[in-house]
Amino acid sequence: MFQLPRRLADEMTAHALRDDPNECCGLLAGDDEGGVTGVFPAENAARSPFRYVIDSKELFRLFNQIEWGEQSLRVIGNYHSHTHSEAFPSPTDVNEAHLGPGAVYLIISLRDPQQPVIRAFLIDENSKSITEEALEILPD
Ligand SMILES: [Zn+2]
Repeated sequence: MFQLPRRLADEMTAHALRDDPNECCGLLAGDDEGGVTGVFPAENAARSPFRYVIDSKELFRLFNQIEWGEQSLRVIGNYHSHTHSEAFPSPTDVNEAHLGPGAVYLIISLRDPQQPVIRAFLIDENSKSITEEALEILPD
């Protein structure tokens, strides 16, 4: 079970709508209990409706901000949008999942822009298997 505060879900959805028709992406920051505490939007260097790329400089900047900032949080996963397909990892998403064991990958689907759908996945980088995590949106 992955719990996401409503305000962060809204932030990610707003980012997805802002970058539509291209995919948006960003990192999720959390505390030691595994809860997500912040959303850090990144630039999609691919500027593409079909994939997302966070370039190494941007990734370094965000890790710096999250892990070595005043709150010393951890990067617990990332998020990106699918502007025309369902919220399920693409083969590219699986091949490019490199955040390590336990990382959560959130996908926001804008297939119906009136009703964005967010789903959470674990991706095993070795076996390439995808496991969906139940996602609970917490009221603020
Ligand atoms: Zn994707």
